[in-house]
Amino acid sequence: MRCPNCGNKVSKVVDSRPSEDGTVIRRRRECLSCGRRFTTYERLGESPLIVLKSDGTSEVYHRDKLIRGIYIACAKRHITPEQINNLVDDLEAELRNRNFTEIKSKDLGDMVLKRLKDLDEVAYIRFASVYKDFKNVEEFSNALKGL
Ligand SMILES: [Zn+2]
Repeated sequence: MRCPNCGNKVSKVVDSRPSEDGTVIRRRRECLSCGRRFTTYERLGESPLIVLKSDGTSEVYHRDKLIRGIYIACAKRHITPEQINNLVDDLEAELRNRNFTEIKSKDLGDMVLKRLKDLDEVAYIRFASVYKDFKNVEEFSNALKGL
């Protein structure tokens, strides 16, 4: 995303929201070089991303749904909505770069976890307990040791 003012390629996302049907994401960006704010419209791939669930069913990827899951994990932690948005922006950028058309829910969860780990350990554990579907206390404590 090149800055329309100075041409610098590095910008940060200050606001991000999906369109009505969720296929286009409108972003407010701020150039890190000159500070100019500008808007971009980004499409998350041509076809929807399919999430393959562990029970064999699949569903279309929804940013809102993922964000909701992360919000729940981050409840009462010192994490701002902006941090969560940036986390998902970063994750979607990786999905786009790798040209995924489908992804296992577990892999998607791992992508979130990788990012949550740097943000907040409690949120990381909460999210992991849902996504990784721990079967017993031992698995759970192994995840804790991995921090
Ligand atoms: Zn600029």
